Amino acid sequence: MSTLKLQQLNKTYPDGHQAVIDVDLTVDDGEFFVLVGPSGCGKSTVLRMVAGIEDVTSGVVLIDGERVNDVRTNVRDIAMVFQSAALYPNMTVAENIGFPLKLAGVGAAAVAARVARIAGQLELTNVLDRKPGRLSGGQQQRAAMGRAIIRDPRLFLMDEPMSNFDAKLRTHTRHEIAEMQRRLGVTTIYVTHDQVEAMALGDRVGVMRGGRIVQLGSPMELYQRPDNIFVAQFIGSPPMSVVSATVVHVDGLAALRIGSQQICIDESSLRHMPLLSAMVNRSVALGVRPEALLVDRSGSLVASAVSVERLGDHQLVTASIDAPPVPATGGAVQAGIPSGSTIIARMDGIAQVSLWKPLRLRIDPAQIHLFDPSTGDAIDVGGQR
Ligand code: ADP
Repeated sequence: MSTLKLQQLNKTYPDGHQAVIDVDLTVDDGEFFVLVGPSGCGKSTVLRMVAGIEDVTSGVVLIDGERVNDVRTNVRDIAMVFQSAALYPNMTVAENIGFPLKLAGVGAAAVAARVARIAGQLELTNVLDRKPGRLSGGQQQRAAMGRAIIRDPRLFLMDEPMSNFDAKLRTHTRHEIAEMQRRLGVTTIYVTHDQVEAMALGDRVGVMRGGRIVQLGSPMELYQRPDNIFVAQFIGSPPMSVVSATVVHVDGLAALRIGSQQICIDESSLRHMPLLSAMVNRSVALGVRPEALLVDRSGSLVASAVSVERLGDHQLVTASIDAPPVPATGGAVQAGIPSGSTIIARMDGIAQVSLWKPLRLRIDPAQIHLFDPSTGDAIDVGGQR
């Protein structure tokens, strides 16, 4: 059991590409920490520097307070599991799991006892005699995990261990990984591009973008109080809708103008945003999640439904409004995500809307997010954050 500390960690590849920039991070003993971000943001490079399979350009990697920058991988006492399980095909599960101990010269009886214990924890007891070819994908990955952790490593590093699984197996194995980590209590750093996985697994999550950690926090902190538009749209599915708006005064109270429309904010919500009234005439990026934007006849925002996605107990309505888009510099997630004048609202499972007809939406002002449209950073409106 161990702690990991990264101080001002940087990695520049020989071709000049800065893959990791000024990463500071402390992972506590027994913590399940997840690094999440889009492909190419530097997650694996961080993990590989922790493992010692990638040189550190500058900065420090400390395990239990000891600087390990120049310590070889095999003496860092780290277990790693990668995308593909990579078990030895000619060995049984028991032989695979026990292999690192056998290699270390541990006696056969001690190896067998330890394999039995790990197999019990990973629910592999009844497949110990099988070769990997006769295992399910999830069993293979668990066997690889068993082999990785049998030596009681100080750190357990996992890099997209479920990326080859189908959706159902991912959900199932996710529970198993979380369970296993809790039972073993080993300090874990898990890399994924999948925010659902990050939210489900992490005690804490670090969101990476362009080589930097742009926010660290518990899953709920990231969801409820994103520091910037990027995190706001990366965490949560479907993503938070973000549109351009202007703070205005209506009857002496701060309100928001969205395109040609105005949204009033009730006094009790305004009390939680004491700084908003000082922002009149300021352009903002307004962020709102579907659960705070409901299809409701009494709503004051008029939009036009573009598409409807039925999800059983509720539906998601994508609607267009006449607000200008948020400039891309605001840190918005670009690909495949509605931006600017498209917003996603929630509706109960049986309601019906007509496409391309006016649709009323009600925004819960207590759940809105405001960002600076030029930097993408969250705006402090007082008590809200
Ligand atoms: P992630 O794990 O977030 O997908 P990586 O850490 O693998 O990202 O890579 C980060 C960036 O560094 C990417 O742009 C990738 O192309 C680049 N990169 C990774 N390995 C090398 C390398 N050996 N040489 C040059 N660039 C690399």
